[in-house]
Amino acid sequence: MIDVQAVVSDGHGVLSLRQFSLGAPERGEVLIKIMASGVCHTDWDVARCQWPFILGHEGAGIVAAVGPEVDNLSIGDRVVLNWAKPCGTCYYCERGLKPLCENAADVPHERRQWPSDCEQNPAVAFGLGTMATHTVVAQEAVCKIPENSSVSFDGACITGCGVMTGVGSVLRTAAVEKGSSVVVIGCGAVGLSVIQGAKIAEAAQIIAIDLHENRLDMAQQYGATDVWHANRDDIGLRQAAVWVKEQTNGRGADYAFECCAVPALADAPLAMIRNGGTAVGVSGIEEEVTVDMRLFEWDKTFITSLYGRCNPSEDFDRLFHEHSCGNLLLEEMVTHRYTLEDFQQAFDDMLSGKNAKGVLAIGANL
Ligand SMILES: [Zn+2]
Ligand SMILES: [Zn+2]
Repeated sequence: MIDVQAVVSDGHGVLSLRQFSLGAPERGEVLIKIMASGVCHTDWDVARCQWPFILGHEGAGIVAAVGPEVDNLSIGDRVVLNWAKPCGTCYYCERGLKPLCENAADVPHERRQWPSDCEQNPAVAFGLGTMATHTVVAQEAVCKIPENSSVSFDGACITGCGVMTGVGSVLRTAAVEKGSSVVVIGCGAVGLSVIQGAKIAEAAQIIAIDLHENRLDMAQQYGATDVWHANRDDIGLRQAAVWVKEQTNGRGADYAFECCAVPALADAPLAMIRNGGTAVGVSGIEEEVTVDMRLFEWDKTFITSLYGRCNPSEDFDRLFHEHSCGNLLLEEMVTHRYTLEDFQQAFDDMLSGKNAKGVLAIGANL
């Protein structure tokens, strides 16, 4: 048993730093010493889901111990965690849809022993719980960082959710072709990752749309070729859509990605694409919205993109390769780092839109 400190929610949005005891990894499990954890909007949602949770699902660190029957991992390996944890053999895994895995591996709750004054034993966000000094996860959650990669733990951890979702949405979900025109609505961490993915895909035109000038400046640094400063009076971004059409030979873009998580803009990508084009809902809006079906005219496609259809065993290697080649900026996206104790400030700054990406630097990574 080791003592662990973790950021824990009470189910109603109140967070605190709590201590518990973590058991040694058992069959197929791995003990990770966490070095960095990204702060993602989904953590904020998890903190309000009526049950206490150890937060965090973007983690990078070092393998501290392995249980029996763990292949391909050794103590000291630098790793990043993925929340798909695909079994590899179920209906969806066989069809290459790993984030939809029906048997995603998890670690039994008994591995974590809470103090006796703890009323409800917290669950573990995404089976990872990365806002902690250590965690025990299933080996399917662990991806080795290539030994020749110079990526820092800060840069590596953000690939675990936001960067993978953005880049994967371009390369896997939409499979953007070379020479395409691409619109990105919302230039936070996921939107900036879509822009970088579009650049990797060699899109000819990358049009970035955001309310904030500083985010549009970043969008240009990451590869946007055109930017549109949106304003809140532009309902459904229809004025922006007229401008997008003008920029794309009067037809509309080949692809448009919604990365802003604003329900009123759920249909905005449909208004910006050409006939036969593809709109991608990346942010995962989970509300009822009204959509004018004429926006689908003609032959337009709308797809959602869970975790960028990530295949962990291939895609993290790809991201770290692109990072090594200078095609994927990771460390630059981390605009602020915090201590584990400073978690509240990290969440406040995320909600105010101050950061492209905030990271909790943990352990010797401080
Ligand atoms: Zn599976
Ligand atoms: Zn996330």
